[in-house]
Amino acid sequence: MNLAPYASNPANSRGRNHKESKSQSRNDYQRDRDRIIHSASFRRLQYKTQVFVNHEGDMFRSRLTHSLEVSQIARALARILNSHEDLCEAVALAHDLGHTPFGHAGQDALNECMRNHGGFEHNLQSLRVVDLLEKKYASFNGLNLTYEVREGILKHCSKKNAKDLGELGQRFIHGHEPTLEAQIVNFADEIAYIHHDIDDGFRSGIFSFKVLESNEFFNNICKAIKNKYTNLSPEQLLNETLRTMMNYIISDLCSESLKGIQQYNPQSPDDVRLLKPLIGFSEGMNKHFSELKRFSREHLYQHRRVQDMGNRARLVIQSLFHFFKGHYENIPLNFRSNEDQPQERTIADYIAGMTDRYANQLVKQYSL
Ligand code: MG
Repeated sequence: MNLAPYASNPANSRGRNHKESKSQSRNDYQRDRDRIIHSASFRRLQYKTQVFVNHEGDMFRSRLTHSLEVSQIARALARILNSHEDLCEAVALAHDLGHTPFGHAGQDALNECMRNHGGFEHNLQSLRVVDLLEKKYASFNGLNLTYEVREGILKHCSKKNAKDLGELGQRFIHGHEPTLEAQIVNFADEIAYIHHDIDDGFRSGIFSFKVLESNEFFNNICKAIKNKYTNLSPEQLLNETLRTMMNYIISDLCSESLKGIQQYNPQSPDDVRLLKPLIGFSEGMNKHFSELKRFSREHLYQHRRVQDMGNRARLVIQSLFHFFKGHYENIPLNFRSNEDQPQERTIADYIAGMTDRYANQLVKQYSL
């Protein structure tokens, strides 16, 4: 691994909350990645909605495949930008661990239920999962991950919540950035979902190729491919266009970010933390990317079929929350072990950890 001076280095990590002896064979970020992969929350991502709920079909992305795609893109970017691939991988695989069942509709519903009890935010929940909710070790709760992985997981945070997070919350209070690796994963996340949501949206039949061609960036690439190849099937044309589009997006991100890195010449991860964000697109690509996001919002996320899935999800989450408020004893004991927190937080932790199908199954079981 050819590490730049600004790259995070596990040998200089700010460390773990609970002291542990070093591994002889793996660096600390590799160990963190392995702990994440072996966690129960990671396995449950397989049956959590990205956009399409699980029973809509087997061919759509789940939170798990989304996380794997984020990890792949982040690793590729890390390699080009001479930063730490293992750190990127660990952050990418963990970044959505706190997601509720049923995607964003699920999180919004749970947040609404928790309105008078501190709210619910999936990103903060990802940190709770790795810091507290995973129970795999005898001497501590959580996975005891390194500071840099936890810093990367906590992508955004209100100043109010940041005050309770000690050193990790400081950057939100002072307006600082995280490591370059964390910045890379944030972009990898956006690039991954823009790409796969368009892919899944088209294959679900929610929008047609013609509608896709209304996006200028997509259309220009698609036209060039049609000129180059004749007789492509619609599937090949879509895949080739999306693939080429991704390559343009990633190449632009790399060359723009390298320019910024050369200009500011950071000599350590701490320099990176104090500078303006170093990872970013060119102005032209920023426009294309915003247009793609707008396209997904208009034609996919706001589509009636996706909204209907969301409305059903909201009812499931609400009825589970109200049921457990009246039947707290039905929550498994291991979730009730944090006695110093309000019951509502325990209920939210339990519901957030559920897969889509487990949540649906409980609704049936309790006849809600
Ligand atoms: Mg994500």
